[in-house]
Amino acid sequence: MDLHSLTIHELHELLSRREVSAAEVVTAYLRRIDQIDPAVQSYLAVMAEQAMENAGRFDSARGDSSLSLLDAIPLAIKDVICTKGVRTTCGSRILEGFVPPYDGTVVEQLQKAGAIFLGKTNMDEFAMGSSTENSAYSATRNPWDLERVPGGSSGGSAAAVAADLCAGSLGTDTGGSIRQPASFCGVVGLKPTYGRVSRFGLVAFASSLDQIGPITKDVEDAAILLQAIAGHDLRDSTSVEAPVPDYRSSLKEPLNGLRLGIPKEYFIEGMHPDVASAVQRAIVTCRELGAEIIDVSLPHTGYGVAAYYIIAPAEASSNLARYDGVKYGMRVSGSRDLLSMYSQSRSRGFGPEVKRRIMLGTYVLSAGYYDAYYKKASQVRTLIRQDFLDAFEKCDALLAPVAPNPAFKIGEKADDPLQMYLSDVLTLPASLAGIPGISVPCGFTGKNLPIGLQILGPHFREDVILRVAYQFEQATEYHKARAPLNGLP
Ligand code: GLN
Repeated sequence: MDLHSLTIHELHELLSRREVSAAEVVTAYLRRIDQIDPAVQSYLAVMAEQAMENAGRFDSARGDSSLSLLDAIPLAIKDVICTKGVRTTCGSRILEGFVPPYDGTVVEQLQKAGAIFLGKTNMDEFAMGSSTENSAYSATRNPWDLERVPGGSSGGSAAAVAADLCAGSLGTDTGGSIRQPASFCGVVGLKPTYGRVSRFGLVAFASSLDQIGPITKDVEDAAILLQAIAGHDLRDSTSVEAPVPDYRSSLKEPLNGLRLGIPKEYFIEGMHPDVASAVQRAIVTCRELGAEIIDVSLPHTGYGVAAYYIIAPAEASSNLARYDGVKYGMRVSGSRDLLSMYSQSRSRGFGPEVKRRIMLGTYVLSAGYYDAYYKKASQVRTLIRQDFLDAFEKCDALLAPVAPNPAFKIGEKADDPLQMYLSDVLTLPASLAGIPGISVPCGFTGKNLPIGLQILGPHFREDVILRVAYQFEQATEYHKARAPLNGLP
């Protein structure tokens, strides 16, 4: 049996029964990273030494007490989350060589739970993108077809899970960046409710939208990771002081009596026919599992892309003002004066997509345009949120596709930002509304590319979407398929 293909809960069983040591598990992963990652390019930094040290320490210190679920479990972290002493680049040149002096709260929580970090994963620069092609360092490949993108912006985290290069990972989702790469790579990705997980130590992109969440091989693992990172944090005033339920305990409850809404606006024209039919089949499966299926409408869905691509760049332009060549990372030397040092550091440090967002963002916030763009977009956001609140009066969760199309070819949309933005049409509304969403594998296209089912729930009802996802997953076989990696060993 290959250790690297196991889920977190399966690995936990083996470790608990002492059938494997932490050192064996970590060695297996590091060996596989050496073999496979040159082709996939999911990692920006591999923490081999540190991981082996931690594994050794765990093995020698472990007594007779029982293990926690994450003890000695090898995980990967998106490179937008600060790791003390380990370079954190956000996929950007401007943070090349930046080494954070502290850990993000989620990193601390996972460490406390016993997890071992294998490395930092590739991403679109500052999480802006849907394909991981905007990374300044490399383009991560989709393990199901190495000619295709893994999705983005958490493409490295999703590809690493799909290629068995870690047992699970953390991503971030501002407008779909956990759910969409999870769906493109055939793994599970959960975006928690805004406020559920602390963002202390997360490099900010759009502060009213950003959330950290798990990407895993199955739904139970997503529940395990969410359990470890959810909760209030004094260091993040946007994290909410609501009790954290036991996510794993509700997974096993059948779907009987649950009402699942099908939002008609999510079945858009031009959608890939295999995506449409896989999601339709998933709906039938949920009905057979005992759920009641009802039609609902989210009438303002069509305005999501426009509202998001005003709000997110506006916030980004303000958040990215701090990269001036003085405080963090890269500084261009030899400038005449302070202002030209700022502008040269920023011109060379940021890539084209980030610059586009800064220009868009400063434009929509500028005097004279603020009311027409930023304020209007914020009003539309309220309407989108209200659509969801109305729908959740009628149903417990929503079922929809994650993206209209499966993973596209590397380069296919790279020169056309609008096409790239439009591909986010089905993930942006939930982000604007702050509600939780999960992507769970629900089929394959004729070309054997994974398709994801998106399940959306009311604020702080991660338990409901996890339960629906789990019941669906257990009734199907899609999560068991392994990525072919174009025939690599
Ligand atoms: N694709 C979206 C964007 O480019 C969402 C990214 C994200 O969720 N981080 O902004």
